[in-house]
Amino acid sequence: MFGKPELSLVIPIHNEAGNLQALYDRLSAVLKPLNLSYEIIMVDDGSTDSSFEILSTLNQKDSRVKALSFSRNFGHMIALSAGLDSALGGAVITIDADLQHPPELIPELLNRWRGGAKVINTLRQETRGAGVFKNTSAGLFYWLINKIARINLPVSGADYRLLDRKVVDVLKSFKERSRFLRGLISWVGFKQEFIPYQAAERSAGKTKYSLARMLAFAIDGIISFSSFPLRLATYLGLVAASFSFLYILYAVYIRFFTQQAIAGWASVLVAVLFIGGIQLIFLGIIGEYISRVFEETKERPLYIVRKKIGF
Ligand code: UDP
Ligand code: MG
Repeated sequence: MFGKPELSLVIPIHNEAGNLQALYDRLSAVLKPLNLSYEIIMVDDGSTDSSFEILSTLNQKDSRVKALSFSRNFGHMIALSAGLDSALGGAVITIDADLQHPPELIPELLNRWRGGAKVINTLRQETRGAGVFKNTSAGLFYWLINKIARINLPVSGADYRLLDRKVVDVLKSFKERSRFLRGLISWVGFKQEFIPYQAAERSAGKTKYSLARMLAFAIDGIISFSSFPLRLATYLGLVAASFSFLYILYAVYIRFFTQQAIAGWASVLVAVLFIGGIQLIFLGIIGEYISRVFEETKERPLYIVRKKIGF
């Protein structure tokens, strides 16, 4: 194949050996009839199973499959970024490897793109098998981030979307390390559209997002798009200071106008513990921001490629 493909698919992969063949088959079934040139960029994000071997077999059979393998696990967002970095298509679609994102939506994504949209996001209607906890925690997170950050994220957004070449080039120019891609994409603007879809259950393997990872993802999202948590310190400080002032007036009154001066041990203790607690929380929050600054200033490469196939 010569020249640039019209469409690039970018797929992050972390231990998805059980899904890759089925994924390839379903993608090909959708893509081949479309009559356009395409490439499938599989980013192996430090898999420890046989994912990469499967990718190289797929490449031998079909040179449109290209694979890039990281030296270790760098994370979903970084894998997506690496895929965008090497994608050549005029349109780029990012899609998960576990078949939770139905490839059958691709023709509709392309139609909207031809209609002029620069970003076409998909909205997960309901994830079967995701569990009440994941659904409510996600709902809570999107409510919070929309309230306190200057971006507008749809609840149940997914990392299944089509990006126009223009948007991909803008995203590639971002140097920041902590990549909350959904936020960045909302932030860049352009004409954006949304398509709802029914998410399927994972076809094989299990989710790579543990509770700890989801929490890290949420904190990354909020800290990179809002300084509201820092301002909270100021507000709470003001409230605490006002109460302290009232309490000082009260203490002075007790000392000079009554006989019960020593009483009050309990209230002092409560006040000290309360202020101490608030201070610890905000030291933590400030620490989160400082650690981001530290990470960014080191300017390490975003990812390290161990091997490339088909590029
Ligand atoms: N993934 C990745 N690196 C990671 C974790 C996940 O490349 O460190 C990939 C994974 O292989 C899948 C996609 O990101 O293709 C989404 O992960 P997963 O399905 O586990 O997340 P969930 O759908 O449960 O939110
Ligand atoms: Mg999944």
